[in-house]
Amino acid sequence: MLLTLDYAEQLDKKDRLNRFRDEFYTKPNSIYMDGNSLGLLSKRAERTLLESLNDWKEHGIDGWTKGKHPWFFLSEKLGEMMAPLVGASAEEVIVTGSTTVNLHQLVATFYKPEGKRTKILADELTFPSDIYALQSQLHIRGYDPDTYLIRVKSRDGRFLEEEDIIEAMTDEIALIILPTVLYRSGQILDMKRLTAEANKRGILIGFDGCHSIGAIPHSFSEWGIDFAYWCNYKHLNGGPGSVGGLYVNRKHFGTFPGLAGWFGSKKEKQFDMEHTLTPSETVGAFQIGTPHVLSLAPLLGALEIFEEAGIENIRAKSLKINQYLMDLVDHELSDMGFSIGNPIEDKRRGGHISLEHKEAARICKALKENGVIPDFRAPNIIRLAPVALYTSYSEVWQVVQILKKIMGEKQYEKFENEREVVA
Ligand SMILES: *Cc1c(COP(=O)(O)O)cnc(C)c1O
Repeated sequence: MLLTLDYAEQLDKKDRLNRFRDEFYTKPNSIYMDGNSLGLLSKRAERTLLESLNDWKEHGIDGWTKGKHPWFFLSEKLGEMMAPLVGASAEEVIVTGSTTVNLHQLVATFYKPEGKRTKILADELTFPSDIYALQSQLHIRGYDPDTYLIRVKSRDGRFLEEEDIIEAMTDEIALIILPTVLYRSGQILDMKRLTAEANKRGILIGFDGCHSIGAIPHSFSEWGIDFAYWCNYKHLNGGPGSVGGLYVNRKHFGTFPGLAGWFGSKKEKQFDMEHTLTPSETVGAFQIGTPHVLSLAPLLGALEIFEEAGIENIRAKSLKINQYLMDLVDHELSDMGFSIGNPIEDKRRGGHISLEHKEAARICKALKENGVIPDFRAPNIIRLAPVALYTSYSEVWQVVQILKKIMGEKQYEKFENEREVVA
């Protein structure tokens, strides 16, 4: 029964988030499984972007304070809309910069080497851009990254063990930067536990939320996380180059920004044009320059959908549809060289499935030729992300049938087993 299309169609009928699918631009004869790299455009995001363009057309410079979405307050407004998704208050979240820039800002602000506490703790599976940022932050302070950046090892190349991370929290560590969800294996780290352990040792801890924002609920403030940063173009569907997110726990309000700029001013003071910065008393202090308004605007519409759908409902469907994909893989593809490289338990699994296969690169090319958009991560991972808001169970069923056909007919053999420029 599980294996039939009929079963998938029944699941679609019972799916309460099904109604959001029509809000997105999906293409006929194409199955999008890459919402964890770039979420699809929704009609609402398109609308709010066009409205912002119109504000420019109608108001010129006055668009900063007039029009449908006044630009001067957009980063704060979006921070308020995003706060429930990370479990924070409105003053603790701002939409600004990009993931990597926000990490630079946060390290420049909160990395304060002192006495023996001089090192930064990260992990060996972390996204490269984060590592580059940390290395350069150490470098400009005169610390050799080879000595001062500690990377917790993975036991199997896929997952991190919380025990291993906690063991590495020595009295030499000044700052910890970890992902909420690992970008390859989709493992969720136990943020609550890691934060409690870091707090206990007087170490500041921050998280990269790129792969969890919009996919799973968070309780950043309740857990006492010091800061976090993320991008909004993956599960949140903010569009290519969408402006990023930044969270700073209110206990750090008043900390002077490491990278200061005039948009970090207290709003009433910004246009006094003084040469002494009076920083915002909220997370707003960590903004730098003029916000990228046209890359903020789609988020207004994109976030409305999250508010209506509810992140708890999104998580519930995400778990179910990802489990369904794993079950089908188990039943249909198990003797074709595939193995599942993501955590199996719900509690440790983020929003995508990581299928491992030694021919992964060319299987991805064959998938594309068959109208399925996957995501390849070298050397051997096919990431598939059934997205709660727009992927149907029937599509997941079809993807597995297509994979089965590609393998049965050895369709992948006509491609080179090498990655393309992007993914
Ligand atoms: C996508 C992603 C990034 C990308 O950083 P940008 O500055 O937005 O290009 C960084 N870290 C992680 C974990 C990611 O998944």
